[in-house]
Amino acid sequence: SPSEQSGQVGVATHCAYCGLQCAMTLTGTSPDDLTVAPRRFPTNRGGLCQKGWTSAELLRTPGRLTTPLVRRDGELAPASWDEALDVVADAIVRTQAAFGRDAVAVFGGGGLTNEKAYQLGKFARVALRTSQIDYNGRWCMSSAAAAGIRCFGLDRGLPFPVTDIGSAHAVLLLGANPAETMPPFLTHLVRAADSGGLMVADPRLTPTATKALDGGGLHLQLRPGTDAALALGMIHLAVTEGYADRRFVAERTTGFDDFWPVAAQWLPERVERVTGVAVTVMRTAVAALARARDTERGAYVLSARGSEQHASGTDTVTAFIALALVLGLPGNRGTGFGTITGQGNGQGGREHGQKADQLPGYRKIDDPAARAHVAAVWGVDPDELPGPGRSAFELLSALGTDGGPRVLMVHGSNPVVSAPDARVVAERLAALDLLVVSDFVLSETAAIADVVLPVLQWAEEEGTLTNLEGRVLRRRRALSPPPGCRSELDVWSELSARIGCSTDFPTDPHVVFEELRRASAGGPADYSAVTWARLDAGESLHWPCTTERPQGTPRLFLDAFATPDGLARFVPVDHVGPAEADDRDYPLVATTGRVLQHYQSGAQTRLVDELSTAAGAMFVQMHPDTADAAGVADGALVDVVSRRGRTRAAVRLDDDMRSDVVFLPFHWAGDARANSLTHAALDPTSRMPEFKACAVRLEAVS
Ligand code: SF4
Repeated sequence: SPSEQSGQVGVATHCAYCGLQCAMTLTGTSPDDLTVAPRRFPTNRGGLCQKGWTSAELLRTPGRLTTPLVRRDGELAPASWDEALDVVADAIVRTQAAFGRDAVAVFGGGGLTNEKAYQLGKFARVALRTSQIDYNGRWCMSSAAAAGIRCFGLDRGLPFPVTDIGSAHAVLLLGANPAETMPPFLTHLVRAADSGGLMVADPRLTPTATKALDGGGLHLQLRPGTDAALALGMIHLAVTEGYADRRFVAERTTGFDDFWPVAAQWLPERVERVTGVAVTVMRTAVAALARARDTERGAYVLSARGSEQHASGTDTVTAFIALALVLGLPGNRGTGFGTITGQGNGQGGREHGQKADQLPGYRKIDDPAARAHVAAVWGVDPDELPGPGRSAFELLSALGTDGGPRVLMVHGSNPVVSAPDARVVAERLAALDLLVVSDFVLSETAAIADVVLPVLQWAEEEGTLTNLEGRVLRRRRALSPPPGCRSELDVWSELSARIGCSTDFPTDPHVVFEELRRASAGGPADYSAVTWARLDAGESLHWPCTTERPQGTPRLFLDAFATPDGLARFVPVDHVGPAEADDRDYPLVATTGRVLQHYQSGAQTRLVDELSTAAGAMFVQMHPDTADAAGVADGALVDVVSRRGRTRAAVRLDDDMRSDVVFLPFHWAGDARANSLTHAALDPTSRMPEFKACAVRLEAVS
């Protein structure tokens, strides 16, 4: 209602955290009395997880930054906004004059609103005129995005409303653990679980996999990094045992004849040896998907980070899309393939131009027509727009090197904790001439910065986000921000003026959104008919939403895929396995992930008492046999050691773990940083690092 949207009480908005973007109402007049209540909405159906329920704590955390900080004599000291912005602007001007435009870089985040993601891309290309921009979403869904574009011609996490999954009797989850990462998502899996059709491929028996087994479903407990082999084996079974939808393959796809010779080599028994998943389990999973399809009871294949965060992530997701295509699932009502987005604005964050190779509207930056369109909206010469820059890890690992960026601005990210091979990234950040971090808490990255800019957080300003199903949502202001904090939109406007850029950078998010609409028009992610007024009136708008299609597009691909010929693509791919093999010195495979109470690097959720009390310390989960072999007991501290570093964690025994695998959450920092172990073997297509598999050993702490 209007009263919900305009006042200081009863404000209808969405959660501070993940890509489900649960709807909630914030009530209160100050941070101290603000309360959170879930709101009925199709994605969360009136539910919130523990993170959402406690999200108001972020607004009253004692760790809140309210004044700019500038490093003087080695210490971060309070400064005025003018002083801090002058330091940054002077460094930009001096550095670019001496070393060129690309000596200044920016790093964004998948939690920034659509308006900020858009404005950050424009600020980099128009004000800084640097090609050096990328963001942490590169480490989230980039391989699924690349595979979607490769096979369907378009990437939208779920190309159908999430509620469609709710009627399905068979759902295969690939490396997804929504019972911890986004619990309200489980409401869409109830029917599948209750009918024995929930199937979870995961190296661990997660709470989601347990739910599947409890309902009579399946746990496909594969060895980390063998996902593509699993997909190829299931395709082999589907084709050779009569489960393929040959009519769909003939009429709506192309490339199967080139694809099949590779899959044909993956005999189920070979797949069982490689993955550890029994042939009977694979066969049951394929049969369950086909049976649900044939009886029109709904069948979906959904990927997430477990299957995507690999150095062969794009090919792995491509293989699972091929499984879905063989079964005839995508592009129909009631069946489909999708990807479960992770970060709060993981979908919108990759559409508006903060990715190294993209312009707003999800356009390619090397496409002359795209450059001309966006340059016209920005009022600049297309020839002056920079080309594609380095991907996230390549950008960070080039910092302070000959020819690499010497000044970096970080917005909405904490790469000291979240980057792969994080020790190297921290060293490169320390080698910069100037590191500038905008954040509302002193994250580990902010703590080593030269300038820290205190910015607004989720419930303190207006904007939009785009959720995991491509639906545009309004995020609303419930509170006045603390004195001393400013929006990133103000930061970019102030800096562009200080460095002599004549282009206008509006600070009103509604004005920015109006420009975003024009910039996106005609692109794959077309927002041209989305308006704040329509969203405020309660309309449900999924992109593309255009004058020709003003009601938006909840379901993509029903008539044709987004390829030039309208056909989905089988792309021949093979299983290659993890980039780093385990050996005698490092005999275990470490895989990383999340726990219920924490979000991403934990910089925010570690500040929430209820969450840090429930999950306050780093642990490493392993089978008792693994612990015995290392001489460590349950609860003891152990050092997990890889070729790159070590992480100290408390042993947590679990009889259901594979004995060759250990699991570490990545929400903690310092000695407990899981990403000290991971490595930066990058996917050749998406540049996704391999977070999900690296070789380690255990060393008891005496
Ligand atoms: Fe919903 Fe995600 Fe927020 Fe939990 S963290 S309440 S699942 S949006």
